[in-house]
Amino acid sequence: MNFTSRFAPSPTGYIHLGNARTALFAFFLARQSGGRFVLRMEDTDQARSPAELAAALIDDLRWLGLNWDEGPDCGGPHGPYAQMQRLPIYADLFRKLLDAGYAYPCFCTAEELAAERENQRQRGRAPRYSGRCRTLSREESQKRLAAGEEATLRFAVPRSGALQVDDLVWGARSYALADLGDFVIRRSDGSPSFFFANAVDDALMGINLVIRGEDHLTNTPRQILILQALDLPTPQYAHLPLLQGNDGQPLSKRNGAASLREMRAQGYLPAALRNYLGQLGHHYAEAHWRSDVELITDFSLPQIGRAPAHFDAEQLQYWQEQTIQNAELEGLIHWLQPALDLVPSEKRDDFVAAVRGNIRFPADAVIWAECCFAPLQLSEEARKELRETPEDFWLQARACYTAQPEDFRAWTRQLAQQTGCKGRDLYHPLRIALTGREQGPELAQLLPLIPHAEVLHRLAPLAS
Ligand code: GLU
Repeated sequence: MNFTSRFAPSPTGYIHLGNARTALFAFFLARQSGGRFVLRMEDTDQARSPAELAAALIDDLRWLGLNWDEGPDCGGPHGPYAQMQRLPIYADLFRKLLDAGYAYPCFCTAEELAAERENQRQRGRAPRYSGRCRTLSREESQKRLAAGEEATLRFAVPRSGALQVDDLVWGARSYALADLGDFVIRRSDGSPSFFFANAVDDALMGINLVIRGEDHLTNTPRQILILQALDLPTPQYAHLPLLQGNDGQPLSKRNGAASLREMRAQGYLPAALRNYLGQLGHHYAEAHWRSDVELITDFSLPQIGRAPAHFDAEQLQYWQEQTIQNAELEGLIHWLQPALDLVPSEKRDDFVAAVRGNIRFPADAVIWAECCFAPLQLSEEARKELRETPEDFWLQARACYTAQPEDFRAWTRQLAQQTGCKGRDLYHPLRIALTGREQGPELAQLLPLIPHAEVLHRLAPLAS
């Protein structure tokens, strides 16, 4: 089956990892099945939807590697793709619902509704609209509207019966209609409610698979009622278990989550996020780094689990390392560019090849660039260690290096012969003297990067 899916963010803030995962799953399934992928801005919360946020969202999703066939920036046959531009479409549908008796104006004020809810709470009942305005006659409603009274529009939910929703993740669930309560589909300012605009847009845009967060699970029966009343097609639904922090709490800054924007600024690679998020709550048969094509082909809807997925910063770092290992050199150079100031251009490729196994972020590359191309600052501890190696070792090290300056293996083989040192006794002092560190990239790869005179200077650590 061809899935036409969508991502429908509300541009009220920067996109966070939970939503990015939802977008990615929807994208994978559309691409895998050869269907369309649509981006729709749900910008009906005008107080919190500045245009810059919508633009930032598009930018961040593109950075993540998503592309869509239809959307606010590229248009398409089912546009417009921002809800505030679709008000005339909604107006027609509101009229239809009113005319057919599926909707009615509600004049209850916010205070009246709050008092009603409080009353229900005190009596131990679930808060639900009483349906007071449902019994108003058409004439009465018309009169009040004509007099300029403010009204919302509510959907008249059948008083009995049940609705079954077959969720692709959660299976079949039955909802008693009497429990739903008549809900608002148009606010008093004329804007559509989420339930309404979201459902009808899915139908009008030909979406047949809605993937979204579990927090929308209980909205689904209301949305299906709207679609049925309008005789519009109902999509299939797949609700993703929420993403939690490692501590089992909702994902937040406190437990390590950040917006895509922040992660990008920190130097995360989009392919690392794709690999990590792609298997958060989705099981791939084998855990290994995947190209985009593999992520898409190996993705499978039945492999989405029902347990909450947990964000783990350590795992993300692991995929970051894997991504660096699997990246093309050109791509890495581009990513590292701001960190390569110290690196002479003719040594750039070799430098990146040497350090790629030892970096997670561009800032890590700066450390190695300084190590290779700036005067070395040895810590007191390093000096102490070097003093334990006899001067004769350094004398031989310099002599052998001068004979074989480009070839680390030939140099150390000769040095081993001359001094009788091998293994750690041979390589450890050299590493400390040359890099000031206990660990790091292969010395054989670093050595050719460091200027000869500087190598000789570092091989005389007891002199300074
Ligand atoms: N605008 C809604 C949200 O961001 C969309 C929910 C959905 O995907 O249906 O939560």
